Amino acid sequence: MTTPSVSFEFFPPQGLEASFRLWNSVNTLAPLDPAFASVTYGAGGSTRDLTHEALGTLIRQYGLNVAGHLTCVNATRQETLAIAKRYADLGVTEIVALRGDAPKGDAGFQTHPDGFASSVELVAALAETGDFRIRVAAYPDRHPEALDANSDIEMLKLKFEAGADSAITQYFYDIDSFLRFRDRSATAGITRKIIPGILPIEDWEKTKRFSARCNAALPFWMDDAFAKATRDGVHDLLAISVATELCSDLMDEGVEALHFYTLNQPHLTRNICKALGIEPVQSLQKVA
Ligand code: FAD
Repeated sequence: MTTPSVSFEFFPPQGLEASFRLWNSVNTLAPLDPAFASVTYGAGGSTRDLTHEALGTLIRQYGLNVAGHLTCVNATRQETLAIAKRYADLGVTEIVALRGDAPKGDAGFQTHPDGFASSVELVAALAETGDFRIRVAAYPDRHPEALDANSDIEMLKLKFEAGADSAITQYFYDIDSFLRFRDRSATAGITRKIIPGILPIEDWEKTKRFSARCNAALPFWMDDAFAKATRDGVHDLLAISVATELCSDLMDEGVEALHFYTLNQPHLTRNICKALGIEPVQSLQKVA
């Protein structure tokens, strides 16, 4: 079994302490030679400038191949494409193209009168620029708005037909959920890579709340296991073991790339990578 390629997702920092946390995360994980590092785009475009700054620093300071997230929320088509152009000017060669969610408090996603109505439209417009490798989102446990199990697959197929190169999944903990999704995608004629998204569990209670919102299924045994592990002071040990086993099983099933949602907390991810045999390939080279 060969070691998989890895990629890491970070979010842009808001404030000084958060900046230190991000750079500590990048310092810790960059030596693992990720295929790319992605930076999220806050709900409703709230972190537009910070995302841009973080991407620029990752390129300039670390020489990483970066993917900028981009959503359709609260922006005209022109504004969204102008952000993509700024990414390209910065040296960003990959975009994670998303529809996005409504800002907190708003009811559901609303298409801006002059904006992209869906991720498919965004992908098509980005593909036309020819500037980017385009990655999109996929949902093994079903997106909360999916009409039925097939609509996620249909949407994913449309995104690939519009020009996407690969998909990154929402996190999941039941490997069968991913494998079924991959099989159904293949049956639907999808041949592009679907990269599993891995969320190391930093805080079980927060993970439960967040998973309920985004419809990520949590196997029933986890609640009791994490309650006991927290009580016994071994929460992180369990988190590492759960994610390592999941990744290892995915590799047994032929998965060659893993995408980690780091939450700007590098230690679990680093330990999981170590357990999978992914070691630092070089001492960190700052390029500027
Ligand atoms: P789509 O794939 O276009 O839609 C998602 C699913 O919803 C579809 O498969 C379909 O089944 C269903 N659906 C959508 N529209 C309809 C409709 N009109 N009727 C019926 N069903 C419908 N959010 C951010 O704000 N910033 C980020 O940086 C960010 N990064 C992400 C990265 C990854 C890897 C993932 C998995 C998610 C990320 N998200 C982010 C969350 C994402 O924006 C939300 O999940 C959003 O609700 C859907 O965006 P999408 O591009 O996946 O939508």
